[in-house]
Amino acid sequence: MVALTGTSIKLVDPRDLLEMLRPHPLTVPFSLSLYSEQHGRKGLMDAILTVCSPLEDENCCTPECYNGWEEKVSQALLTNQPVVHSCTQGFLCFIIPLPENINLPDCLIGGGVFERKVMTNRTVEAAESSASDAVTIESTQHPQMISISEAETIAEEVFRALPRLLDQQVHTLSLTRTTQRLEAVQKLARDLADCEESEQAVTVVSEALVVLFNLPKVLIVLQKPGQSMTIHSTLGLDPEVFKLDQKRLADHFTRCSGHPEVLPGEELSAILPGLETRTAYLFPLRENDRQLGAIVILDVDLHSRDQALIELLVNRLATRLESLKTKEGHRLERQFSSRLVSMIGSLALVDNRQELYRQILEMSSELLTATSGSLMLLNETDGTLRIEAAKGMTSSLAKTMSVPFGEGIAGRVAKSGFPMLVNDIERDKRVATKNRPRFKTKSFLSLPLEVEDRLIGVLNSADKKNGGNFTEADLNLIQSFTNHAVLMIDRAATLEKAGMFEKLAITDPLTGLYNRRFLENRLQEEFSRGERQQQNFCIILADLDSFKIYNDICGHLAGDNALRKTADLMRRSAREMDVVTRYGGEEFCLILPGTSKKESLFVGERIRRAIEAESFPGESHLPLGRLTISIGVATFPADGVTANELIHAADLALYSAKGQGRNRLVLYEPSMEGQALLSHQD
Ligand code: GH3
Ligand code: MG
Ligand code: MG
Repeated sequence: MVALTGTSIKLVDPRDLLEMLRPHPLTVPFSLSLYSEQHGRKGLMDAILTVCSPLEDENCCTPECYNGWEEKVSQALLTNQPVVHSCTQGFLCFIIPLPENINLPDCLIGGGVFERKVMTNRTVEAAESSASDAVTIESTQHPQMISISEAETIAEEVFRALPRLLDQQVHTLSLTRTTQRLEAVQKLARDLADCEESEQAVTVVSEALVVLFNLPKVLIVLQKPGQSMTIHSTLGLDPEVFKLDQKRLADHFTRCSGHPEVLPGEELSAILPGLETRTAYLFPLRENDRQLGAIVILDVDLHSRDQALIELLVNRLATRLESLKTKEGHRLERQFSSRLVSMIGSLALVDNRQELYRQILEMSSELLTATSGSLMLLNETDGTLRIEAAKGMTSSLAKTMSVPFGEGIAGRVAKSGFPMLVNDIERDKRVATKNRPRFKTKSFLSLPLEVEDRLIGVLNSADKKNGGNFTEADLNLIQSFTNHAVLMIDRAATLEKAGMFEKLAITDPLTGLYNRRFLENRLQEEFSRGERQQQNFCIILADLDSFKIYNDICGHLAGDNALRKTADLMRRSAREMDVVTRYGGEEFCLILPGTSKKESLFVGERIRRAIEAESFPGESHLPLGRLTISIGVATFPADGVTANELIHAADLALYSAKGQGRNRLVLYEPSMEGQALLSHQD
């Protein structure tokens, strides 16, 4: 057995000591707890409540009781001798000073045992029933009723045995714990590196804290992207009884060093009003000088070894959260841009002005998670801004409201031409107006809508869903959306003036797909976006094989049905962001925005296979025994930089697919130009 040395004694964990003493034959009848003078009166009350809690008697532990205890504790510590105390309720308790050790509290407290002589004053039944209640909670043994002198002997023996126990068993136990926990923490660090979502990473750590370190109460505060700090989860605490004062927490973070710290109960209660605790360890989650949140551990005295291990774990979590945040940010950006493209695609389909305004407001609200807002357009005749679409207020009310150019928030945004992003309408110097009752939050975003430097209106968004503030990121996002939306508004105005809406039917009546006119417009948009944002896109030209024969054999009606079915399969095989059009006859053209040549292969092949696999009535008479499709693919900018060039390239690839036996996909290659010429000359 390793002898206790000056340095190794530091390894003793008070919780290990308690764990070892509880089943010890000497102390079995007593409930045990530890106390240090530095824990103050609250610490003493906690310790007493712990040893008396099995009694579950409301009359127990009165203020006089505490005074009596305080006196006895001082006596034990002053004399460095065990003291036995008979409390006001007739229970026997002991206070045993612990050997000096930087990690150990001052004394061991035992209690919850009846003093034998008291039995003469009470009825035996009452005592037994109350005593048996007492013990059923902590142990299955019968209550012990002992005399003062027996208790004194026990206290004396425990006092004498303690140095030896600490020397040997506790030390060994602590050493084993240290090794186990160190290994577990190393494994957890590896698990953390495998976590692909921040939620998962936080769960790994919070479970480890509770299980590995046996912590009774843990609270995790986190900052999610675009939101303020919130209580993420609590363990062993009732989340209903306290809340987080975000400002106080932010103040605390600005003041603190970024290192773990021990907070007195009152300081923590200032940050988390309603939460009562004696002491708390606050481990900040911080990475690259950015505060990501904190892990708070309550109502336990942590061994320095565990503090170090927890700090290690929390730091790993912070690193992982930060790297996941960047990854998640990129993923969200990608999701947003494809959502944006599909939104703009569907805006182009809208065939009346009011519906267009309504949809623009709906889409911008979705992008910003705004629950109220309005779209105002400038009436050039009287210079006022009129609400054309509103969310979060009745539309009849909205229709009656108009704002003079240059007045009010929207009027000023219109006049200045600059967006206004406001966190607090009451404090922001630019506005400083009382928040109107119909708005839930004080943050809003007001954006001028311009076409080629000509102001056409203002888009107002308010009341973010989670109650948070609008951010610069919101502003950038909504600007990229409105850049497109304003073009639609402008186009709608022109079309309506010319009475051209009806003429511009953009869907094909047989298949319900977009028609060629739509395709041409969309292609133009795609080219300008491609050039502006240096983004690839592909077009797919697809033509049913031997469809003339199919029509001849099965009839025109069956041919129409086959075209509908093909359209349906294409829509389902394409992705949400892809634009599927009927180019003419049995030819289809797809735009695949933001897609590389390689990625387009997957979409094209999926379409080809879907049609090949589908059964069409009468197809067995076709040359290939099935109704199939041939596909040509061309990519912007590699294969063409105008609509004509790109369609020409896709057409050559399709021609080559037909030439190679049909039912296949061919990517355009420059060498096809010469071959096409040759075959035309044939
Ligand atoms: P390939 O494999 O070379 O494409 O041969 P194909 O027979 O499909 O090509 P072709 O261009 O010679 O014939 C296209 C046929 O598609 C002509 C017409 O019978 C049919 N078709 C075109 N539009 C429609 C339509 O709206 N409904 C029906 N039922 N058939 C159509
Ligand atoms: Mg054809
Ligand atoms: Mg054909």
